[in-house]
Amino acid sequence: MTAHPDLIAHNTQFEKKLHALSPTVYTAVGYAASNVHFLIGDEGVVVIDTTETTQAAQNILADFRKVSQLPIRTIIYTHSHRDHISGATVFSEQQAQQLKGPQVRQNKIEVIAADNFMSDLVNVDQQRPAPNTALLSRTKRHFGISLSPDERINIGIGPGDRPMNGLGAGYIEPTHRISETVTLIREGFELELAKAPGETPDHIVVWLASQQILFSGDNYYHAFPNLYAIRGTPYRDFDAWADTLDQLLAYNAAILAPGHTQPIIGSDAIRERLTDYRDAIRAVVAQTVKGMNAGLDPVTIADELQLPENLANKPYLKEFYGHIGYASRAYFAGTLGWFDGNPTSLGQLTPAAEAHQFINLVGGAAKLLTAAKQALENGEYQWAMELADRLIAADLEIADARAVKMGALRQLADLTINAPTRNYYLLSARELEE
Ligand SMILES: [Zn+2]
Repeated sequence: MTAHPDLIAHNTQFEKKLHALSPTVYTAVGYAASNVHFLIGDEGVVVIDTTETTQAAQNILADFRKVSQLPIRTIIYTHSHRDHISGATVFSEQQAQQLKGPQVRQNKIEVIAADNFMSDLVNVDQQRPAPNTALLSRTKRHFGISLSPDERINIGIGPGDRPMNGLGAGYIEPTHRISETVTLIREGFELELAKAPGETPDHIVVWLASQQILFSGDNYYHAFPNLYAIRGTPYRDFDAWADTLDQLLAYNAAILAPGHTQPIIGSDAIRERLTDYRDAIRAVVAQTVKGMNAGLDPVTIADELQLPENLANKPYLKEFYGHIGYASRAYFAGTLGWFDGNPTSLGQLTPAAEAHQFINLVGGAAKLLTAAKQALENGEYQWAMELADRLIAADLEIADARAVKMGALRQLADLTINAPTRNYYLLSARELEE
């Protein structure tokens, strides 16, 4: 399987290991899409985040049990994304408890989250219409869910090869909700829990001052921040995320334990990364606003946008997960809405109507197909797809047009460093084939 070499090299971020961050704090990396953190007190354990599958949670718990046998009594969710909340039943050790008697551990374990937990999930209310089918199919493509682990390489913030049994199966409702910064004593640890809106509005971070360890959820990981997810997400507040990075910098942490990718050791390294992360978000906002005020359309703004030179080559700002152009377009849509400002767009032709006009203009479908095949051969993959799309939209030369598009998608998949884009291209190509 071919892929962008930097995306393959990015797999070092997901080497499977239970890291000892201190004698009492452990972090499981590479077992699942997200990391799990353990704080071992004298009589019990606090767990932060729980992965996306009960199988991954079981694998992590089995390795953790080689370190400590103490009961897990508190779970903290940093936010509501499914890859952080879906292994909780395993860590609550409900099954073990049930073997001993009728008491269900699930009712006894404390689960802490923010008061606006679930704020990023649009499809939780079954009473109202929601594009759940669209979200599901787009999410499958985003994460390359039915691709082989080899094809997937990785998912940008987690390994490509990881268990899928029990996906979404082990969620437990929070029992305790945080509405402002609080200090809690759990298992002898003094923990500061602070609201920290960033990748989602419902984030909380956990600060263990006694050991200078910050558990930052998904407000930092080793990839450009995912300010827009192509699976389909509501607008993410760019300014709030940048402000939260200032809040995280103020802790002056010695160890940063993020929700994805490797922990970072050393206050200088942490300060550099959090500062650069904040400045990258601010740079996308500033350049997008400049383009908007100059009357440019979102596609042109995104195409021209570049991070400042001091940020552009930072390995942790590479677009393994988030994408600078997608972020810029999300900012445009999130602040000015879908209308690009050009009055032509107000009465835009449907793709099918535009395709018929275009095909007539170029002298017929056969000519257009020849041009699409030529573009594919020339390595002009985007143009090849745009030509093929017109034949598909007009219901003409469908099989050949699909073949061109599949070929272009597979070529582009191997050229991109962005894991969601790669996975989306490859799964879309397979769907066209079927
Ligand atoms: Zn996550």
